[in-house]
Amino acid sequence: MEYFGRRVRGIVPYTAGEQPRDRRYVKLNTNENPYPPSPATLQVLRAFDGAALRYYPAPDADDLCAAIAEAEGVGRENVLCGNGSDEVLFLTFAAFFDESRGVCFPDITYSFYEVYAGFFGVPVAMVPLRADFTMDLAAMAKAECAGYYIANPNAPTGVGIPAERIAAFAASVPECIVIADEAYMDFYGQSCARLTSAHPNLLVVKTFSKSYSLAGIRCGYAIGNAALIGALRSMKDCMNSYPVDALCQAVCAAAVRDRAYHDETVARVVAERGRLRDALLALGFTVPESKANFLFAGRAAKSGKEIYTRLKEEGVLVRFWDKPVLRDFCRITVGTPEQNNKLLASLQHILFL
Ligand code: PMP
Repeated sequence: MEYFGRRVRGIVPYTAGEQPRDRRYVKLNTNENPYPPSPATLQVLRAFDGAALRYYPAPDADDLCAAIAEAEGVGRENVLCGNGSDEVLFLTFAAFFDESRGVCFPDITYSFYEVYAGFFGVPVAMVPLRADFTMDLAAMAKAECAGYYIANPNAPTGVGIPAERIAAFAASVPECIVIADEAYMDFYGQSCARLTSAHPNLLVVKTFSKSYSLAGIRCGYAIGNAALIGALRSMKDCMNSYPVDALCQAVCAAAVRDRAYHDETVARVVAERGRLRDALLALGFTVPESKANFLFAGRAAKSGKEIYTRLKEEGVLVRFWDKPVLRDFCRITVGTPEQNNKLLASLQHILFL
């Protein structure tokens, strides 16, 4: 007896990072922010009128979109919200690509793009990163495809591309759509969001999970011209009219409006990123310069798996992938100074004792 549709057969789903409940780890494996969300969001949570939950939420999250539009310097019609940026990325695959409209992205990047391409039967052209982990945009521009996914900063390397170069790339491929996945952009400050008005083929995707410390509430958004946003909205309305619940809309709107808190926590993470990278370099690691809230660190004669396993024994969780190139590295989220010190002490122990 066969109960399953063709999509289930042979599909390789995305593997999310561990969220262990067995013991308390210094958790540096899924690029969460080590600081709590804005006090304004906690106030909204406490004051939330539970009785109002009997109503459906605003299907297009109007107040939240207005708050995002103001913060990003775009119009309300240029914003669409979803249940995490993963869902927004899913909608982009549904809206812009199909069996005859393929995509291009680097061989080392956010692995969900390949999963979505597989799910939708979208052909993929993968372009290798250069040896220094930078993206080869010139080679990518030559790919046969209908669009591009450019994680900026890239994951899991942390390498960033200035906004002007992304805009120039979009201008050089006017027949294609360029999706800039800016999940980690607030730790870099080179967003293309404001450039979308001048580039009709450029779509920016961002999230509340990282710089806003709201990974648990699930909200992400797209910014682009009204035609692109309209296409995403029609895909959303084929799937789920209310992907962003009422509590989420209220909490995220409060987070976006508290810029001072956001910018302060981002600055704290960025300062620690520099200190942690210097310390890892001093321990003999190779670490590309990161513009994100994580570092990609590898060390000769120690596999990523060994470092990951030994760190886990010491109560420190980092991310490791058993894939070519990646298996020589671990991806380490930048934590608080105390968490980073614990990581560094554990590495010292693993490497030298
Ligand atoms: N893009 C990139 C590059 C990411 O690393 C992540 C986090 N796994 C996401 C998008 C999705 O983030 P979220 O769904 O939490 O918004």
